[in-house]
Amino acid sequence: MADAHKDLSDQLARLEEMFTIPQAKLKQITERFVGELEKGLSVEGGDIPMNPTWCMGYPTGHEKGTFIALDMGGTNLRVCEVILTEKKGEFEIIQSKYKMPEELKTGTADELWNYIADCLQQFIQQHHDMKELNHLPVGFTFSYPATQEYIDHGVLQRWTKGFDIDGVEEKDVVPPFEAAIAARGLPLKLTALVNDTTGTLIASAYTDTDMKIGCIFGTGCNAAYMENVGSIPKLAHMNLDPDLPMAINCEWGAFDNEHAVLPRTPYDITIDKESPRPGQQTYEKMIAGLYLGEIFRLVLLDLHQNPDCSMFEGQDISLLQKPYFLDSGFLSQIEEDPHDNLQNTLELFKSTLNISPSRSELEFIRKLAEMIGIRAARLTACGIAAIVKKKGWKTCHVGADGSLFSKSKFFKGRQAQGLKDILDWPEEYGKGKGDPVEVLPSEDGSGVGAALIAALTMQRVKEGQV
Ligand code: BGC
Ligand code: MG
Repeated sequence: MADAHKDLSDQLARLEEMFTIPQAKLKQITERFVGELEKGLSVEGGDIPMNPTWCMGYPTGHEKGTFIALDMGGTNLRVCEVILTEKKGEFEIIQSKYKMPEELKTGTADELWNYIADCLQQFIQQHHDMKELNHLPVGFTFSYPATQEYIDHGVLQRWTKGFDIDGVEEKDVVPPFEAAIAARGLPLKLTALVNDTTGTLIASAYTDTDMKIGCIFGTGCNAAYMENVGSIPKLAHMNLDPDLPMAINCEWGAFDNEHAVLPRTPYDITIDKESPRPGQQTYEKMIAGLYLGEIFRLVLLDLHQNPDCSMFEGQDISLLQKPYFLDSGFLSQIEEDPHDNLQNTLELFKSTLNISPSRSELEFIRKLAEMIGIRAARLTACGIAAIVKKKGWKTCHVGADGSLFSKSKFFKGRQAQGLKDILDWPEEYGKGKGDPVEVLPSEDGSGVGAALIAALTMQRVKEGQV
């Protein structure tokens, strides 16, 4: 069988055009982003929720106490006991991970809360004599958009990241959580409901005071930063001190739900249409780990079905036809294949998909994985740059967590290049000097961060503050 070189190179050129985001476009997206951050803080609102979190201020480093941190992620449920010690910036942590069963994501609300409470129970029984235990404060990292009027309550605005559990959206998630805890007689008290980005911001600032933004680049994508209450028009009716700091959970995944500026491809449009929440999380669907493998899969499937090219001709593509069959780790493995002949990629395709790509197909596959990864990383730079511009910061550190940031070898460099393209740094940077806006791995936001926020909240209550 002839290798259809010509057709694939035509396709590659077409896709490159679609997926490449030049500097001018990055700048245009960032400009729009700055405006959307402002809009989200206004009374009228915009695409981005910009949720006030009632996490008001940074830790001093001297917080202390014992806390339970609960982190409900997309893949794992993690329970930690965090002991903040007397010593500045120090802590001890013990933790257990429980797998979040896939069915739970589309199951019932009762199943969700019971599962979480069962894991908590297991953890507490393993580490404590229940009878001797005083009530422990819980920092619950709930990484979905929530409207909060108090730090220990939150109404889920909508599920993201493929979750689709009935009867939770538009309701306060705390009462059913507390009911499940009470039913098991667990000596726990929910003190703070925390977004993972806010946890990341606070945990990062605990050890590095230059940290001004907390970001997650993982299954989902989002950021939080500190605003002054006086710059949040939608809180004006509360007559708070305008100089009070307030962490804002941007929920920037919803950026450009109006489809005004992001260069969406037909594949992005398909992902959106077939997702449980069409029309939501436009930006997130182009950049977050949950979707990158799916974009890749949709392109390959499209080329297989395209009569003009003979992609995977004669091969069994039944596995490739399964939605969300490939994750972003799959793309990283392709990108990191060290062999000129892409031997690892060939093996990966055989073992994962039961497909043996030809040499030119392998080369195409590698380029496609790169295009998708580069686009995602560059687009994340727009969000960071937008916050930096809005705040008028000249330099800052950004604390980041999530699988794309910590596991994908090329993500950081591409993101840094994107920031450079947008912010036009002076020449002297890059010559031994750290970038003015530097994205660094964060401390454990959903463990230490959630505990710190619980500690800060208890301190505020003790001092009789809002
Ligand atoms: C959620 C955010 C979260 C982000 C990263 C998004 O889908 O809406 O609340 O911070 O994922 O986990
Ligand atoms: Mg630095």
